[in-house]
Amino acid sequence: HAKHQGRGRAEMFTTELALEAADRAELERDMLLALQRDEFLLEFQPQIEIGSGRIVTAEALIRWAHPERDLVMPGFFVPVAEESGAIVALGDWVMSRVCETAARWSQADVGQRIAVNISSRELSQGDFFLRLRQAMATHRTPAHMLELEITESLAMEMDARVLEQLRALRKEGVRIAIDDFGTGYSNLSRLRELPVDRVKIDRSLVRDIAISAEARTICSAVVGLIQGLGMEVVVEGVESEAQMDMLRVIGCTLFQGYHVARPTGEENYLSRFAPQALAQRRAG
Ligand code: C2E
Ligand code: MG
Ligand code: MG
Ligand code: MG
Repeated sequence: HAKHQGRGRAEMFTTELALEAADRAELERDMLLALQRDEFLLEFQPQIEIGSGRIVTAEALIRWAHPERDLVMPGFFVPVAEESGAIVALGDWVMSRVCETAARWSQADVGQRIAVNISSRELSQGDFFLRLRQAMATHRTPAHMLELEITESLAMEMDARVLEQLRALRKEGVRIAIDDFGTGYSNLSRLRELPVDRVKIDRSLVRDIAISAEARTICSAVVGLIQGLGMEVVVEGVESEAQMDMLRVIGCTLFQGYHVARPTGEENYLSRFAPQALAQRRAG
């Protein structure tokens, strides 16, 4: 086992191995310290209309600028944060930063909403919605600037109280998206009843569409199903022009992926995807 060969912290932070309890506890402590030291940051990735190239939403994605490492990606620490409960503090930080950024973007007429990932542990906190509303009030964030991303598996488990809160937010203009659709098991009649604006199709359903007729059939059927329910489809993980061509054929209107843009920091994002707004902000 790597640990017994003097595994250094570098490896610990770059490999996604099943962490032992002690490592997990250490990582949790490090995350809480990192929050105090302000080591987390958000990157943004655009969601783009296939026909027009218009950007409708920027997804906020958390990274950890660890002082001794390359950027640590959420796939490494978010699952541990979810298990340990540190996700609540982390999620608060994300929500506050997203609300603050969205309010600024609204002022600067960026013309794009910000989507934020919500994990199940956060949503199950009794005061989640209260804290969300407090963050929105503190930063004067217009509701229409926000979109909440909730994973498919979580969406299927939401209880009446959560649904009621989401319905209320949606009435006020907050968008609700289902994330990673196609990775869990959906009760399709339940999907129809959820207060959802858009569904993000997981990249595993998109990966092979340019090389496999079967993959194309599945992707096309899922897209048709969601559109048939009156919801918008966003396809995640588009990495090539060949996949884009297939998405046009399938009739998909929105996508997100490395093919056009990787997630990047706010300055860089705005200079690429909202240059007028950035100029205005610098002048102001
Ligand atoms: P997600 O919400 O499904 O986010 C999409 C992930 O796919 C992001 O990874 C993004 O960088 C990556 N991606 C985008 N386009 C492509 C592509 O063309 N190819 C490939 N291979 N990947 C692409 P990232 O940033 O590493 O985030 C991973 C997951 O961590 C997210 O999946 C989300 O579940 C979670 N996460 C990220 N930020 C937060 C956060 O602030 N709060 C919570 N609770 N979870 C977060
Ligand atoms: Mg997401
Ligand atoms: Mg996703
Ligand atoms: Mg995900």
